[in-house]
Amino acid sequence: MTSDEVRLEDLPLREDLRGRSPYGAPQLDVPVRLNTNENPYPPPQALVDDVTEAVREVAANLHRYPDRDAIALRQDLAAYLSGATGVPLTERNLWAANGSNEVLQQILQAFGGPGRSALGFEPSYSMHPIIAAGTRTDWVPAPRRDDFMLDTETAARIVGERKPDIVFVTSPNNPTGGSIPFAELELVLRAAPGIVVVDEAYAEFSSQRSAVELIGSYPAQLIVSRTMSKAFAFAGGRLGYLAAAPAVIDALQLVRLPYHLSLLTQAAARAALRHADATLATVAKLAAERERVAESLLGLGFSPVPSDANFILFGRFADARASWQSYVDNGVLIRDVGITGHLRVTIGTPEENDAFLAASKEVPR
Ligand code: PMP
Repeated sequence: MTSDEVRLEDLPLREDLRGRSPYGAPQLDVPVRLNTNENPYPPPQALVDDVTEAVREVAANLHRYPDRDAIALRQDLAAYLSGATGVPLTERNLWAANGSNEVLQQILQAFGGPGRSALGFEPSYSMHPIIAAGTRTDWVPAPRRDDFMLDTETAARIVGERKPDIVFVTSPNNPTGGSIPFAELELVLRAAPGIVVVDEAYAEFSSQRSAVELIGSYPAQLIVSRTMSKAFAFAGGRLGYLAAAPAVIDALQLVRLPYHLSLLTQAAARAALRHADATLATVAKLAAERERVAESLLGLGFSPVPSDANFILFGRFADARASWQSYVDNGVLIRDVGITGHLRVTIGTPEENDAFLAASKEVPR
């Protein structure tokens, strides 16, 4: 048998992974790409120059391993997050990894695993159950309301009954866009027997208060994960982080791979953070565009779900898959997230949004 003839089925794969699908947002070469919730504005030239210079400087040390604890980067992230939330934080409260996906995986490695469970309110971010599967954590799906918002009292009751080791609350929620009202988050925290991960990947686009404000009150439970992939326009740099009590970071140290954040990543992320004000200036533009796109969709007879993030879930389509393909044929890549009758569009530049709205007039409903 040649190496090309060996199939996945021939491998001694873990039984529990057989038949599963990998995460797979299509990466198609289409003129208008509004499918993975990135910031459509490229980094400003000053940031590009600063990242280039920072990488140049550290390149002379590439023969050495990087700072395993990424202390300087965590200090910078603590300064940013303290400024954004008003909560005093130090590097002891911060942890960083290659995207918040890696942060979430480390959380499940430390607090989940065989014989343990994680609960999420669906539909939500598809990687939560995939990371649970990868770490052999049982996945417990719990429902949202028909309008995709969280019914917090029901949520707290289910959490109390099922007693998961980990609860995921995605706020704003991907792919539906709504946030959990700050005041209601404590209902979930009080009901949860263990860890509560508030996934705030899109927090900068939202007007809600951050769960970071509650870390002091729930230090043994609450972990807030964030990312530089969305508002920070740094998806290609792969930098996610979390805020929690220092003991949580001690726990993650037990599962993280040594030197997981490369010298290049640490240097580039620190340089990008120095330009946070310029990058985050796009957030207001994107929020305004979000409202314009939502209104235009309404005007076209669609039903956009109210969003607090940089994307909009909208319907209805008789056949969402066919309509998705029709968007692609019209040069616009959006996302079929598997919710019957709905598609999700990321907010782009005004020109990209216009192209999306023009295509929306053409696609079958
Ligand atoms: N959480 C949510 C809710 C997301 O939508 C995403 C990206 N799609 C992530 C986490 C992970 O992003 P990254 O690994 O790029 O930080």
